[in-house]
Amino acid sequence: MIEDPAEVARQAKLREEENWCFRSFLKAVCGWSDARLNRVAAQLAREAAAQINCTDCGACCRENIVPLTDEDIDRLAGGVRLPVLDFRRRHVKSFDTDPQAMDAHPCEFLDGRRCSVYESRPQACRDYPYLDGDVRSRMIMILERTGTCPIVFEQLERLKDETRFRRIYPRP
Ligand code: SF4
Ligand code: SF4
Repeated sequence: MIEDPAEVARQAKLREEENWCFRSFLKAVCGWSDARLNRVAAQLAREAAAQINCTDCGACCRENIVPLTDEDIDRLAGGVRLPVLDFRRRHVKSFDTDPQAMDAHPCEFLDGRRCSVYESRPQACRDYPYLDGDVRSRMIMILERTGTCPIVFEQLERLKDETRFRRIYPRP
């Protein structure tokens, strides 16, 4: 498994065309049922996640807009010992798609490769990279994340092998 986020980004860029072909293959050629595909993909993701320590990576913390709930904001403000209003003023922005979000690249709470507010981190950070769910309907989101997250990259590469997809490039 490739754990270095820079190498993951490089390999994913190289495989952009192949990954779009894989999406078409899953939709139109692969005879697996959704249930089987989702079960195998979830298992592969669990195995990949067990091989990497997110607190030694932090790649997603350099790229993503993080949506926040009111509970997230209260918890984060408590974690950094700021009054909630001050926290909102300093760290929370508003977008059309996300009325409350953190949008800093890297995240202001990233310390090297580690989250300095790990115990208080927002729910979206806990859920990322959203490994569960229906693979076929989520394939575009999965492809978007494959260049960022080593877990998603590994999951996708192993899924190509499991479904006997004919690759353009050998498995890294
Ligand atoms: S709050 Fe922590 S886990 Fe979430 S993006 Fe920031 S550094 Fe990463
Ligand atoms: S979720 Fe993925 S990108 Fe984020 S820290 Fe963990 S391995 Fe790295």
